[in-house]
Amino acid sequence: MSIDHYAVIGNPISHSKSPRIHTQFAAQTGQNMRYDALLAPLDDFYQSVKDFQNAGGRGMNVTVPFKLEAYALADRLSPRAERAGAVNTLVFQADGSIEGDNTDGVGLVRDLQYHDVTLKDANILILGAGGAVRGVLAPLLATHPASLVIANRTAERAQQLAHDFADLGTQVSSQAISQASQIHGCGYDELNGKIFDVIINGTSASLGGELPPLPEKLLQPGGVAYDMAYGNEPTAFQRWAQARGASLALDGLGMLLEQAAESFYLWRGVRPDTQALRISMR
Ligand code: NDP
Repeated sequence: MSIDHYAVIGNPISHSKSPRIHTQFAAQTGQNMRYDALLAPLDDFYQSVKDFQNAGGRGMNVTVPFKLEAYALADRLSPRAERAGAVNTLVFQADGSIEGDNTDGVGLVRDLQYHDVTLKDANILILGAGGAVRGVLAPLLATHPASLVIANRTAERAQQLAHDFADLGTQVSSQAISQASQIHGCGYDELNGKIFDVIINGTSASLGGELPPLPEKLLQPGGVAYDMAYGNEPTAFQRWAQARGASLALDGLGMLLEQAAESFYLWRGVRPDTQALRISMR
C-alpha cells in the first residue's frame, strides 16, 4: 500500500519539531503517512512546493519565511487564511489545485482554552505586529475580549493592524483604550499606566533572548502571560512575567501542537489528541 507524503517547508528547517509531532499523530490515529522536513532555497519556494506536489505529496506545512509566498501560491484560501494574509497549511487536491489555510490562530486560542485562560471580557495586550500576530487577531477577537491592544516597536505596524481588524472590534483613539470591545494599536511608550489581564508576546525578541521594553506594572497580579516562542528554557518574557506575579507564564509549544493538530485534521479528517504529546515533547 502506498504511503501518503507530507512535509514542513521552511528555511532554516532542521530545528522544526513538526516531523516528530505529525509522526506521533499518525501513529496515534493509525494514518498511513510520512512527514518530513524540507529545506527550500530562499529564492525557490514556488518550485520546491511544485516539485513536492508533482512527486505525489498530499500537503505541506509552511514556516518562516515563506508564509506570505504560500498565501500567494494557493489557488484558493480559507476565510481565516484570507483574513490572516498568510498561509501555514497547504492541501493538495486530487485535481492538482492547492488550498491555503492558516491554523496558527486557532492553535493559540485552543492552547489558551486548554489552560482555562478566560479571554471573554479580558483586557488583552499583544506584543508585536508581524505575521504571527496578524494570524491570531481574528480568533482572539472572536472570543470577545473587553479590549485588545497591539503594541509594537514600529508603532505604525500595530496601528495598521488595528485598522485592518477594526471591523471585528471597535477601533479607538489612544485616550480610550480601557473601555469595552476595543482594538487599538500603539508603540511601547503608550503602555505606561495601563494594566492587562492577559499579555501575549508575538514578537521574535525571545528568539534572541531579548524582551520588548515593557513598563514595570503592566500585568494584572495573577494575570496570564503567553510567549508564542518556545525553547528548552523559559523565555525572557516568561521570566519577566513570573517575576511580576503571573498565575501562568506559558510558552508557545502548546500553540505549535494545536496548530499542527488542526493541519492534520484538514489533511486526514481525523483530529489527533494533543494531550499525550504535551507531556512527551517537554
Ligand atoms: P515576524 O518577523 O513577522 O515579526 C516579528 C515581530 O517581532 C515584529 O513585530 C518586530 O517588530 C518584533 N520584534 C523583533 N525583534 C524585536 C525586539 N528585539 N524587540 C521588540 N520587538 C521585536 O515574525 P513572526 O510574526 O512570524 O513570529 C513572531 C514569533 O512568533 C516568533 O518568536 C515565532 O517563533 C513565534 N511563532 C510561534 C508559533 C507557534 O506555533 N508557537 C507560530 C508562529 C510564530 P518590528 O515590526 O518593529 O520589526
